[in-house]
Amino acid sequence: MTEIYDFAIIGTGSVGSAAGYYASQKGLKVLELDVAVPPHTQGSHHGQTRLIRHAYGEGGKYLPMLLRAQKLWDELQQKTHRDIFHQISLLNVGRQGTDFIENVERSAQRYQLPYEKLTGEEISQRWRNFSFSNDYVGVLEEKAGYLNSEIAIQAYLDLAKEIGVEQKFDSAVQSIDFQDDIVVIRTAQQVYQVKNVLVSAGTWVKELLPTVPVQPIRKVFAWFDVADKRLNEDEGFPAFAIEIDDKQTYYGFPGKDDTIKIGQHTGGQPINQRSQGTPYGDYSSDKEEVLPLLQRYLKGVGPLNHGASCTYDQSPDGDFIIDQLPNQPNVQIVTGLSGHGFKFVSALGELAAQKANQEEITTDLSAFKLNRFE
Ligand SMILES: Cc1cc2nc3c(=O)[nH]c(=O)nc-3n(C[C@H](O)[C@H](O)[C@H](O)COP(=O)(O)OP(=O)(O)OC[C@H]3O[C@@H](n4cnc5c(N)ncnc54)[C@H](O)[C@@H]3O)c2cc1C
Repeated sequence: MTEIYDFAIIGTGSVGSAAGYYASQKGLKVLELDVAVPPHTQGSHHGQTRLIRHAYGEGGKYLPMLLRAQKLWDELQQKTHRDIFHQISLLNVGRQGTDFIENVERSAQRYQLPYEKLTGEEISQRWRNFSFSNDYVGVLEEKAGYLNSEIAIQAYLDLAKEIGVEQKFDSAVQSIDFQDDIVVIRTAQQVYQVKNVLVSAGTWVKELLPTVPVQPIRKVFAWFDVADKRLNEDEGFPAFAIEIDDKQTYYGFPGKDDTIKIGQHTGGQPINQRSQGTPYGDYSSDKEEVLPLLQRYLKGVGPLNHGASCTYDQSPDGDFIIDQLPNQPNVQIVTGLSGHGFKFVSALGELAAQKANQEEITTDLSAFKLNRFE
């Protein structure tokens, strides 16, 4: 007789790897499917690191999930003793009175997060490599920092495997069909029957679910030589998210191993096929993107060392899509993470596992429903 899984995960990169672990912990019979072998460089999670900000400029609706995510990251680190979270301080900077920085401060106040407000000149005095006038303001979060994304995914996959999750990698899912209450998943190699499904296929979710409004965006980021050692993590340089005059947002990590990683959150190239996600340097703009930051606001960064390209799964409003398929309550989707999802991955995985286990979801997810685009 054909085996019927309790829960299949289509795409076990960031969200999927976490969901697989939390579901297996609950005793569900879990199947993990991925077109590649995660962690890998063909999705949205490579390049070693991701910022975790707590005071969230994107709005208070994210905060309950974010605080839960931090707790789960801490637990994962304690359990595995792997190098997952670096609590090194994170500096948010924006022009006085702009939405980004006001939302950051508002969410810090509302959720009583510890933070320090700094004038532009105070920022420049504390870290001599920054150069901000008092038109700018900073919100420094000492409890925030960054996550080692690839290490975290590997940790979830290893834990799941230990519990006995079936992992089928190099297995591209080609179709999802329905037979009464059972979902039928086809890969090139096999057909699976499952009771509940999570589609966490990231940027290319539309190949499986064409009506989900997600636009793939090609994004680049780069490592530069550290020309001034004060930029290094062990010298106390913070991670940062900076919105400058023209609403362009940049992010970066303190220097490590003589390089510093910097990228632009805004911008990028909308693409429609995987082959268009070409390597760093393919567009002349790739090497110019972060120059506005380096020329005016951040000193001591040396020549380009190397770069990489990645993709965002951009939703129309930049907010996540966390829902189920219309009329198919046993198919969950988590997508549209729009370039800011990694920090939430632990909590998103836990929520998906709870739903697959028919538990009541107490987190308010009403802002993330698909029908907001109708
Ligand atoms: C350059 C860059 C910088 C970022 N910086 C930050 C940051 O600082 N902080 C932050 O919080 N977030 C950040 N993000 C966003 C974050 O990394 C993503 O939101 C997150 O990794 C997305 O997770 P995911 O599970 O949706 O996608 P992925 O991790 O890409 O996983 C999707 C998986 O689905 C698989 N898949 C696709 N199609 C199929 C199929 N048909 N069959 C089987 N498997 C399939 C893929 O192989 C992949 O493994 C950044 C993203 C990028 C690209």
